[in-house]
Amino acid sequence: MSIQQNLNHIKETLPEQVTLVAVSKTKPVSDLQEAYDAGQRIFGENKIQEMAEKHEILPKDIEWHMIGHVQRNKVKYMAPFVSLIHGVENEKLLIEINKQAAKHNRVIDCLLQIKIAKEDSKFGMTEAEAFDILQSPSFSELKNINIVGVMGMATFTENESQIKTEFTQLKTIFNTLKAHHKFPTQFKTISMGMSGDYQLAVACGSTMVRIGSSIFGVRNY
Ligand SMILES: *Cc1c(COP(=O)(O)O)cnc(C)c1O
Repeated sequence: MSIQQNLNHIKETLPEQVTLVAVSKTKPVSDLQEAYDAGQRIFGENKIQEMAEKHEILPKDIEWHMIGHVQRNKVKYMAPFVSLIHGVENEKLLIEINKQAAKHNRVIDCLLQIKIAKEDSKFGMTEAEAFDILQSPSFSELKNINIVGVMGMATFTENESQIKTEFTQLKTIFNTLKAHHKFPTQFKTISMGMSGDYQLAVACGSTMVRIGSSIFGVRNY
């Protein structure tokens, strides 16, 4: 199936309120252009350099999402254009994003990455750490970032009930953080679900899915 057909198929299965991030990491610009021509405007990349290069070339009404692990010294390369950073996992990184956003007179939306998987390899913070950041007085001084929700990745397993437990856990954490948020209406995004598990994620309350291989085909690294 073509990229356009894949996109249409996925969009048909997604509820209207769920945002689709087309994960285009490792894929050539021509593939992104094909998705763009089919109407897709939100793309997710996991390397800042690669995202910046694609941003240069492609139409400027694309929303670029950074979905990968973020190194603090590279934030400056995406600060002029990135629209959502999914993988924020500590306050130091938030401070750097705030600093770089200020240089461009921007307010950058961020998600706190919560560790829900049992694997050691997945990044993210605990619920308590997320809670502390949202409550800390120094956080309210960061005028150039907006924390708009949470992001999480389930364990890589065939065990659906485990994945469901982890997604449900993220939804519960989201609800708790939202209930204590100073501006609860801006705290609205739960980024969870990938090609293999997005339908389950949506059933568990996801508002944003990050789908790569089901749109663009398998990746060759
Ligand atoms: C690569 C990636 C995805 C997309 O994975 P697929 O299985 O190809 O849909 C989603 N989220 C993150 C954080 C990723 O790195």
